[in-house]
Amino acid sequence: MIARSLAVFSIWLAGLLPVGLAAQEGDPQAPKVVCRMCESRGCFPCTKHGKLLDLELPENGTVFCSVATVCKVCGGSLATDCKTCDNVPVQEQLEQRRKLAQEWLAARKKSLPEVEDRKELVHIKTAHLDLSFSIKPTTVGKTKIDTHPLAHLYATRLEELRTLYMTTFEVPETDLTGRLEVYMFRDAQDHAQVGPRVTGIGTSQSTGVKLMGVECVFSMWQDLRQMPNDEALHRNLVHNVTHLLLSNTKPEQFLGNRKAGWIDEGVAHWFEDKVTGKCTNFCFEEVLMQPGAGFKGGRWRAPVRRMVDAGEDKSFAELSILNTDQLTFTDHALAFAYVDFLLATQGGAKFRDLVKLAKRDQPMREALQTVYGLNPLTIVAPFRQWVKENYSPLEPR
Ligand SMILES: [Zn+2]
Ligand SMILES: [Zn+2]
Ligand SMILES: [Zn+2]
Ligand SMILES: [Zn+2]
Repeated sequence: MIARSLAVFSIWLAGLLPVGLAAQEGDPQAPKVVCRMCESRGCFPCTKHGKLLDLELPENGTVFCSVATVCKVCGGSLATDCKTCDNVPVQEQLEQRRKLAQEWLAARKKSLPEVEDRKELVHIKTAHLDLSFSIKPTTVGKTKIDTHPLAHLYATRLEELRTLYMTTFEVPETDLTGRLEVYMFRDAQDHAQVGPRVTGIGTSQSTGVKLMGVECVFSMWQDLRQMPNDEALHRNLVHNVTHLLLSNTKPEQFLGNRKAGWIDEGVAHWFEDKVTGKCTNFCFEEVLMQPGAGFKGGRWRAPVRRMVDAGEDKSFAELSILNTDQLTFTDHALAFAYVDFLLATQGGAKFRDLVKLAKRDQPMREALQTVYGLNPLTIVAPFRQWVKENYSPLEPR
């Protein structure tokens, strides 16, 4: 265990050192502090983090974590000085890291005065995400995970979702520049206070609110009636953070109220299905969802197939001019299926181009023509054909 953690740690330290220091080993003229005690590292991994030290390392995606930062021994530098040798560059490096972590946490707390004194609240910064998290210890798979490591798990999941989104649609980094700002609370009251302020929208009654476009903010609390377990919570985050990513992709724009609700919701559902195998989240701006409301248990391929077989699927011309909050449950399922169809048969890059045109308010008729050479009438036959070939009327998915 110690050997493993030392190996990981030296990778971490190498990543942490500025180029000049890292190059020091290969430079015969540079002074080098040789020490047997610390194998010339100048420091030791801080022992106070135990098994969780791995979670705090930059190579595992963590830039800063509030729990690591309040460590009384290392103050967030994750290492302690070797007392046998006097390696000044390493000492300075650790002090610098400690200082940056302390400054980051102080700013983070200052920005959230409503919940500043919550002991259970964890803040994590990763490459593209700022997460504040107080979800109760939760069973994931067969293991019960405490709030702190669970926060790291969600930070990792959201970074992975961002990567999946970008590879699916072949979005370059330059087209997705907003940082994700996500708040996940265990208590309704914390969300009710923080959510409306950080998003500038929403009532204190909501389960979740988002600010989309240039800003990418999502605040929620875990209503156990709607999200009784980790799977449901994860799916809720996938759905909502997909909306943030979709809206933030240049040109930054929320599509749901620009007569492109089918794209807005269809894409969010597509990622829910891709990551968790079901679609159970719906966005309504005015209607409050009844707990447990949904469509066919979240498994939509078979019901869409039966709808198509019966010729009861709404025409694309009708579907594709609705806003998000005008979509019925069956519209949501159909929107998901059209996105699934276009991605499967034409690839992600074309869909990305369609989204771009829709964001520039090009009518769907023209956008479809430009990107796919189809129109709202001619898309229906190949869609139905594809559904018949790919969705079983019996399969649960
Ligand atoms: Zn030493
Ligand atoms: Zn941590
Ligand atoms: Zn420590
Ligand atoms: Zn949605």
